[in-house]
Amino acid sequence: MTHPTRFWHRVPDGRVQCDVCPRECRLHEGQRGFCFVRAREDGEIVLTTYGRSSGFCVDPIEKKPLNHFLPGTPVLSFGTAGCNLGCKFCQNWDISKSREIDTLADAASPEALAEAAVRLGCRSVAFTYNDPVVFLEYAVDVAVACRERGVKTVAVTAGYVSPGAREELFSHMDAANVDLKAFTEGFYAKTCAGCLQPVLDTLEYLVHETDVWLEVTTLLIPGLNDSDEEVDAETRWLAERLGPDVPLHFTAFHPDWKLLDRPPTPPATLTRARRIALANGLRYVYTGNVHDRAGQSTYCHACGALLVERDWYELGAWNLEHGRCSACGEPCPGVFEDRPGAWGSRRLPVRLAA
Ligand code: SF4
Repeated sequence: MTHPTRFWHRVPDGRVQCDVCPRECRLHEGQRGFCFVRAREDGEIVLTTYGRSSGFCVDPIEKKPLNHFLPGTPVLSFGTAGCNLGCKFCQNWDISKSREIDTLADAASPEALAEAAVRLGCRSVAFTYNDPVVFLEYAVDVAVACRERGVKTVAVTAGYVSPGAREELFSHMDAANVDLKAFTEGFYAKTCAGCLQPVLDTLEYLVHETDVWLEVTTLLIPGLNDSDEEVDAETRWLAERLGPDVPLHFTAFHPDWKLLDRPPTPPATLTRARRIALANGLRYVYTGNVHDRAGQSTYCHACGALLVERDWYELGAWNLEHGRCSACGEPCPGVFEDRPGAWGSRRLPVRLAA
């Protein structure tokens, strides 16, 4: 299961430093990093989860969430174990905080995984459930095998990654959804045990230096990151630094892991945040984890026509032709085909191990 890695160096005191993420863990022999899945063995940093997964599932691409990337198509989704952030509200804590062996029941080589995607009719493979940053080498090898077979790849990530590893990871990706957890350093420090600035750097990198299709998600948690002021500051920054065309998803929190004292996000909070974001110039703003046809459909920014109707993960009306509004011809940014996929809202668990 252990696999050699590239992003590390020795430091003068004899430890080795992992250079994958801003945590820069410095390890003695036998120690593991904060993410638990990168460890020092024989003087080098290895990945201990290569080729192992917590499970595979065919999901709608809208669940990642991606609304402008091959809408309606199925995506083969998987994760491994471990995470380089420590979010108290983690919605996948059984995977991200697992101690490896207990969750990694399924196994697949990159080639077997890419073949499975083809066999299952999936247009893409998503690295999700936990952050591909911590299983970088496996994610990259899977992405290479996918591209050889015409299957696209999607990174669902918090974007907490150092520049060298960032370039390596995203050079192999076709799309990404980056979780922007809040817009204050205080929230990242207190609630995620991390920092905001590297995430903002990743967002700017993706938009200005790659061809990766990017969408952004913010989970709104009552009383922690959902004030008008914070939503206003975040969406102003996104509009100014990334431009108006990067879709933004505001999704609803439900109490989980170590954050059980907060109520679920009221749908009205998502609607309020969406209104602020639209007023700040963002063109494609969505609500998530609730039923809200008006807040989940895509509209033409030029003429206001309905382009893609959505209710949670179900698609309805489709008024795009060659990626353009059928009413006025204005292009809609994203990766669109002439017809939507017909996967619907199904979730299909699959076993890949022999
Ligand atoms: S990827 Fe893991 S081991 Fe490397 S710096 Fe980040 S938390 Fe530490």
